[in-house]
Amino acid sequence: MFQRPPAEILAELEALRAHDAPTHGGHVLSYVYDPGLVEIDELAAAAMRAVQSVNGLDPTTFPSVAAMERDIVAFVRGMLHGQAGGGQRPDDTVVGSVTSGGTESCLLAVKTARDAWRAAGGEGAPMLVAPSTVHAAFHKAAAAFELELVVVPVDQMTGRPAPEDVIAHLSDRVALVVLSAPSYPFAVLDPVEAVAAECAARGIALHVDACIGGFALPWWQGSGDGGRALPPWDFSVPGVTSISADVHKYGYAPKGVSVLLQRGRDRQRHQYFALSDWPGYPVVNPTLLGSKSAGALAAAWAIIQALGDDGYASLVAKAHRATDALVTLVSGIEGLRVFGDPTGPLFAVCTDESVSPDRRVDPHHWADRVKQAGWLIQAQPGLVQRDGTRLPHTTHLTVTPVTERVLEPLGQALGSAADAVRGIPAVDPAAVLAALTGSLGTTGLPERLDSETAWGLLERLGVGAGGAMPAEMAPLLALIEAVPSSVAERLLVELVARLVEP
Ligand SMILES: *Cc1c(COP(=O)(O)O)cnc(C)c1O
Repeated sequence: MFQRPPAEILAELEALRAHDAPTHGGHVLSYVYDPGLVEIDELAAAAMRAVQSVNGLDPTTFPSVAAMERDIVAFVRGMLHGQAGGGQRPDDTVVGSVTSGGTESCLLAVKTARDAWRAAGGEGAPMLVAPSTVHAAFHKAAAAFELELVVVPVDQMTGRPAPEDVIAHLSDRVALVVLSAPSYPFAVLDPVEAVAAECAARGIALHVDACIGGFALPWWQGSGDGGRALPPWDFSVPGVTSISADVHKYGYAPKGVSVLLQRGRDRQRHQYFALSDWPGYPVVNPTLLGSKSAGALAAAWAIIQALGDDGYASLVAKAHRATDALVTLVSGIEGLRVFGDPTGPLFAVCTDESVSPDRRVDPHHWADRVKQAGWLIQAQPGLVQRDGTRLPHTTHLTVTPVTERVLEPLGQALGSAADAVRGIPAVDPAAVLAALTGSLGTTGLPERLDSETAWGLLERLGVGAGGAMPAEMAPLLALIEAVPSSVAERLLVELVARLVEP
């Protein structure tokens, strides 16, 4: 019956997995969120297996799906101070859905706001207003649902948008404002209260993207750094109309599960797609997918049952202590500094320009060195904002509970990598660009790159056959900063597309 024996197939899978970055143990400071509890992983695996054959499309046929989703929504609503239904004003009731991830939650928040805006008589092209630090998912959502995206520059020292700069863009055409709690690039907790007050007064929807902070900030205050008070940012703030929180980040569920909560049943119903007007089964989809796995949902449900409020509080305390220790450590490395005033278990690091050039550390050379020592931290390109101000290029660290156990070797690696690259200037983007365009025999990059030209450029940057990444990422990041974003995006698409070409 089998063309190959299952054991052999699984052995091959294991061999493939051996080339992946380690998902446990704290060596990867982005993408993965390790609570450091084996029992949690085992519970999640068993829960996924229990629903392996279920179709999450239809909760009337598979009521377990609805039951688990209700429990998760109730937990997250409590955690984010949302009002339960019944008795209170119905437009204050907070309801929600489990989605396949942060991106889907963000897409649906935008779709809901657009359709609610239209239903309320909005005319012309709807607009979405957000700081330049807003997650890429909102750029995707604005493109997909055809909203005009207004990107508000943030302060170049703090990474924080001024509330008045956001408010200045409010008008009848604005269907949604998005703020972050905190932002991914710099971990800034945006000024939710001030913007929410103005949005509420004008009847404009405000989404708080707590994809990364949702399962951490509720327990942040009172753990770690002596309990510095956080300004309110969740449903306790009246003008907040929706919040996204990823269970597959600090909720520790396997990938594929996030929660989107919305204030007001009637506004939330705009999230849904329904169709009775075709010859097939009547369709009702709260989310983007049709048939879908219930695996990550079941795992998330089981983990939330197991951890509960106390479990999350103690895991957040570990991540908080580890973050404080790393922030102190990095701040003590000559030539580097922590960017802005981060809130939550993540932060970004940039060059300390207050020291002389020969003592500065470039964060991208630093990340490349740190990688050689077996730790992955994430390089982020700089950005010239619409107003001409420049956000520095940085390196991002996401801290998890397990980080606390590896603070010593990690600190060692961060320190010696800085020593190794101190004084080496950042890669000169102009030089990378000149070397590349030289290869084309022209004076500049063509406006539109075809696959072959794009691939040729990538090969010159050291990308190998099958998309093997170059030993050093700093030149690639410098190129991204140097070329127009449309060219950078085309190169990145080519890189990732080639990975899966047979
Ligand atoms: C991770 C993240 C997202 C997108 O989530 P995915 O789960 O990667 O799709 C959106 N916003 C913020 C702030 C995030 O950190």
